[in-house]
Amino acid sequence: MSHFADKKPHAVVIPYPLQGHINPMLKFAKLLHLRGFHITFVNTEYNHKRLLKSRGPNSLDGFADFNFETIRDGLSPMDGDGDVSQDVPSLSQSIRKNFLQPFDELLSKLHDSAMADLVPPVTCIISDCYMSFTIQAAEEHALPIVLFSTASASAFLSGLHFRTLLEKGLIPLEDESYLTNGYLDTKVDCIPGMKNFRLKDHLRFVRTTNPNDSMVEFLIEAADRVHKASAIVFNTYNELEDDVINTLNSMFHSVYAVGPLHSLLNQSPQNHHLTSLGSNLWKEDTKCLAWLESKEPESVVYVNFGSVIVMNSKQLLEFAWGLAKSKKPFLWIIRPDLVIGGSFILSSEFENEISDRGLIAGWCPQEQVLNHPSIGGFLTHCGWNSTIESICAGVPMLCWPFFADQPTNCRYICNEWEIGMEIDTNVKREEVEKLINELMVGEKGKKMRQKIVDLKKKAEENTSAGGCSYMNLDKVIKEVLLKQY
Ligand code: UDP
Repeated sequence: MSHFADKKPHAVVIPYPLQGHINPMLKFAKLLHLRGFHITFVNTEYNHKRLLKSRGPNSLDGFADFNFETIRDGLSPMDGDGDVSQDVPSLSQSIRKNFLQPFDELLSKLHDSAMADLVPPVTCIISDCYMSFTIQAAEEHALPIVLFSTASASAFLSGLHFRTLLEKGLIPLEDESYLTNGYLDTKVDCIPGMKNFRLKDHLRFVRTTNPNDSMVEFLIEAADRVHKASAIVFNTYNELEDDVINTLNSMFHSVYAVGPLHSLLNQSPQNHHLTSLGSNLWKEDTKCLAWLESKEPESVVYVNFGSVIVMNSKQLLEFAWGLAKSKKPFLWIIRPDLVIGGSFILSSEFENEISDRGLIAGWCPQEQVLNHPSIGGFLTHCGWNSTIESICAGVPMLCWPFFADQPTNCRYICNEWEIGMEIDTNVKREEVEKLINELMVGEKGKKMRQKIVDLKKKAEENTSAGGCSYMNLDKVIKEVLLKQY
């Protein structure tokens, strides 16, 4: 009898090749695996190498029914040791041009392996919604495809409406002066589900003066293909974004909010055998956890700008002195590629000022850090993963949004959920100092902490047995992924 006679369903999972996309999609893949799926997880060769470097050469082996495959990204090799996030516009252009063929070849290879009884036949594709070439591959191979949004439902909705923004003449901007002349405060009331949204609250890609902007074209192409998917899955939960989810439900027939995924995963009883299967592309510095042990409860400001943002050394200094002058303990993650030009110098005056009150590290296990009792506030760029991880940890935020969906998330954090405060784009040390104090010991901070603890409870309810996200995961499996199985 053949090895795969009692065949498992087989999902091919493919994230956009950046850290903030790989993390939640690996979690989703693990959840499917725990529900009986064979998984093929697809990274680019570039990221696969980085994973093996940061986690060890055998770190991805030995997980039964959980395999990793790679495809070429079509970009030229990076300078140096290649330990940096790739440029998003270049990556996005290459995705449009170069990814379909290797992905198609991979599906054919998996088909051959299934014929040789080495793996179960592929039964579905789970694709990042921004890897929209997969829709074509799914059609060619007659497979159902589920799109996964690693961004919030609101950011996804914003991305869907870039064509509307163009048609209404709201973008592109006339010229660079429109970035600072108040134009971005224009209310955009032509998008159902996004109440009181200003142009600046939409995906950062609205800030373009180029009528042929490649990122706008990339978004529109992805948006035009969404209706061909069998379903769309979100790493969010209903109460967090109910207006937007209702709007999406009226536009598409199968929308499932299954988040927060890490909360769902942490509550899965057999998860322990997958915990060592990690996705960090930089080596984690775990010393910071021991350092946090020495600090008082809720006393430490955690500072992390995610995996993509870069800043100049002037901005870095404003944050540094804002943190120093706040007199609060802080843990600051400065990625090796965070500062433009690579090197930065924090003066001995700064070092003396902070002494052991501050710790700087290169990359950390963020979920563990956020959940450490010593953490009292999070100075963040508002990436969606960071946002939802902070909600699950009940930690209020200071927001410095910069790129992609970060302005949209910031709008929700500060105005809808009232669990954070925004720092001006033109960051100044006095403002950083003032807002840190407000967050950590002020009245506003206290109110925000209460609100975020309520949201944390709702996230837990959603992801425990019988909760909405928990049920939605079962539903998308039964109604879509196993429908033709
Ligand atoms: N992350 C981490 N350690 C770090 C910085 C980030 O583990 O030092 C993880 C973080 O927990 C999150 C992801 O990397 O899951 C970053 O995603 P996010 O959407 O917040 O931001 P992006 O990196 O996409 O801008």
